[in-house]
Amino acid sequence: MSVKTHQYEVVIVGAGGAGLMAALYASQKASTAVISKLYPTRSHTGAAQGGISAALGNIEEDRPEWHTYDTVKGSDYLGDQDAIEFMCFKAPELVYELEHMGLPFDRTPEGRILQRPFGGHTNNETGKPVRRACHAADRTGHMILQTLYQQCIKNDVTFFDEFQVLDLIMVNGKAAGVVAIELATGDLHVFHAKAVIMATGGWGRVWEITSNAYAYTGDGAAIVLRKGLPLEDMEFFQFHPTGIYKLGILITEGVRGEGGVLINDKGERFMEKYAPHVKDLASRDVVSRAMYIEMKEGRGINGQRYLYLDVRPETVNKYAKIDGRTNPDGTPYQVTAEEILHKLPDIIDFCKTYLGVDPVKEPMPVQPTAHYAMGGIPTNVKTEVLADEKGTVVPGLYAAGENACVSVHGANRLGTNSLLDLVVFGKEAGVHAAEYATGAAFEPLPGDAADFARSQLDAILNSKGNERVADIAAEMKHEMMDKVGVFRTEEGMQEALNKIRELKERFQHIHIDDRGKTFNTDLLTAWEIGNLLDIAEVTAASALARKESRGAHSRDDYPKRDDQNWLKHTLAWRRDGEIELRYKPVVLTKYEPKERVY
Ligand SMILES: Cc1cc2nc3c(=O)[nH]c(=O)nc-3n(C[C@H](O)[C@H](O)[C@H](O)COP(=O)(O)OP(=O)(O)OC[C@H]3O[C@@H](n4cnc5c(N)ncnc54)[C@H](O)[C@@H]3O)c2cc1C
Repeated sequence: MSVKTHQYEVVIVGAGGAGLMAALYASQKASTAVISKLYPTRSHTGAAQGGISAALGNIEEDRPEWHTYDTVKGSDYLGDQDAIEFMCFKAPELVYELEHMGLPFDRTPEGRILQRPFGGHTNNETGKPVRRACHAADRTGHMILQTLYQQCIKNDVTFFDEFQVLDLIMVNGKAAGVVAIELATGDLHVFHAKAVIMATGGWGRVWEITSNAYAYTGDGAAIVLRKGLPLEDMEFFQFHPTGIYKLGILITEGVRGEGGVLINDKGERFMEKYAPHVKDLASRDVVSRAMYIEMKEGRGINGQRYLYLDVRPETVNKYAKIDGRTNPDGTPYQVTAEEILHKLPDIIDFCKTYLGVDPVKEPMPVQPTAHYAMGGIPTNVKTEVLADEKGTVVPGLYAAGENACVSVHGANRLGTNSLLDLVVFGKEAGVHAAEYATGAAFEPLPGDAADFARSQLDAILNSKGNERVADIAAEMKHEMMDKVGVFRTEEGMQEALNKIRELKERFQHIHIDDRGKTFNTDLLTAWEIGNLLDIAEVTAASALARKESRGAHSRDDYPKRDDQNWLKHTLAWRRDGEIELRYKPVVLTKYEPKERVY
């Protein structure tokens, strides 16, 4: 394999919302390249539906302080409060910045950005849901991605599309570049850099039922872990309450924001029991758990593992009346089928296409779906990657977006806060990486810079066993869904961990059919499954150790949150084949942990 070398001051891995925002800012000061395994506009940010949060107060009173408190509470007090405050106070400025770039938000009749309610976002004085999610129909992420990509093209950002990064180059403890394979040729490329930003998105493909794209294989996190750096809070993975039954495809929380309700086999709107104040708009961990309990107790539809999400106008109007929901002008909230079609066009389309169900006429069968990684590569508010529990910075290495853990989402993310996280911390990453790069020199590149990347591929290509990658992946996904999902027990997690280790051993003996150079998806899929196995192992080990229930980590055997012993972040290293866990305190500023009531 030949190796080509490139040199840029800042190299960004990933062209989703976080990577593109970073690129826009980094490229203003430093020579910048964006490397992406997908064509940029195919990044998962484009699948985001419901909206981006900002306390604009366009429809009703709202304040960044309320947004901050809701996020702290939603995080089950595990989020770092300095970072959360920073993000929520920056939100209005960033949303207006997107608007000025040309993002076609939905509008109020006066021409302001329209906002809708979303789970966990409240008026802190009344406790009622507040309209905080800015949206472009149910394709907000698509619009963000297209807008940012256009801006990057306009500003001459350099892209290496369909290049998959396999390794991070570290010299003298500093980030010095990355190694990537060019998908079309199979050639290896070394990107020599002064600063590297990791923005590779999440890893929902660890689980069987997921809303995540096929490309969500945790590459960035796995690469960093292999460099001897830790991953933070990996036990916290969000299950979104409403995935299409069996397929996992997401039905946005915006459906419930527009008045849709969850219904069990008895025709009951069961969220009243679990969250009497905000009901169907409780935070995601609360709703997913309620759904599991309903199904476990036999109230799934026809006794099966699904429930109904009902957004038929007659249902919405019935419950809006019961809840006393009003429009901003105080008139009763009532909707027509046309309005639902207008507000949720893609959802209606998905349901018709994948289920043959028309949501304005029939309820949608849904089940919780693996959705979002709260944990990831640890960073501080400046997005600098951290090497340990003391906050030691890895010079030149930055991370932003879903693969990073700042931590603004703590143990549970609120809907619409990820798109916000991308633009706020994507921008920080771009600014700080460029600033660092302009003041730093290129570290000399070692002669063997590409060796580790090559050896990973060679190990797969030369493996002589009979194991099929697809079988190993299926067993991992099933085990993780069953035992490290919405509900967890000591025994189940231990079994999952043992199974993952067995699968990792079997992975040493795989067989792939394609040994060619061009577009070898067999090879790269195998490499990605290797990443998922590493991530699954860290997730199960971190979860097993945490003996409490908090946010998305819910244990049958330790059902209560335990602030005395567990108000702390997990850091996990992989050393000599073992997972080493250490802990660091949560940053608390204004808000003392309280019991969460919804
Ligand atoms: C279906 C769905 C709906 C959602 N809806 C919302 C919503 O309404 N509101 C909200 O706030 N959040 C939502 N989220 C969450 C949010 O969209 C994601 O967390 C966010 O878009 C992640 O952005 P990112 O920039 O970190 O990663 P992505 O947008 O996924 O981009 C990752 C990039 O990394 C690249 N990459 C990955 N690995 C490599 C590699 N090895 N080498 C090179 N490049 C690589 C990819 O090519 C891609 O360009 C949703 C998520 C899903 C799945």
